[in-house]
Amino acid sequence: MKAPHLSDEEIQTYALRLDTVSEEIHTHIQECELCRQKAQAYQLLFTTLEKPVAPVFDFDLAAEVIQQLPPTETITSDSRFTSYSVGGGVLVGIGMLFFYFFNYPIYLFEGLSSITLSILLTATVGISLFLGYDLYAKYQKQLKVLNLS
Ligand SMILES: [Zn+2]
Repeated sequence: MKAPHLSDEEIQTYALRLDTVSEEIHTHIQECELCRQKAQAYQLLFTTLEKPVAPVFDFDLAAEVIQQLPPTETITSDSRFTSYSVGGGVLVGIGMLFFYFFNYPIYLFEGLSSITLSILLTATVGISLFLGYDLYAKYQKQLKVLNLS
């Protein structure tokens, strides 16, 4: 009397890992044509799934893409020079702000109390410093990215 055929799960286990199946399944596969064909079909399917075929073009794809890219300008500027120029610009701006405030403070803030004026001044200087530093940090980061490529 012939044993019943193997289940799909048993055949898949056999197709995937030959060493982990029991002797019973191994013997059945050897003797039964139908189960052996199923196992071979599964093995073919699994190997196909494991190795996806890379697309092959009859032209050099990388060369074609690079040809269409806009030419990159080489950045030769010294990052220390740009740091000094940005810092100098910020200092000149702050200096001009103070010069203006100390020369024409009365016309600007006529009618404002001294506490309002000091709050306004502190907030302005604080925000300016924060924005200046933020801009500087962002600029430095962009420079680093450009220099790496
Ligand atoms: Zn069978």
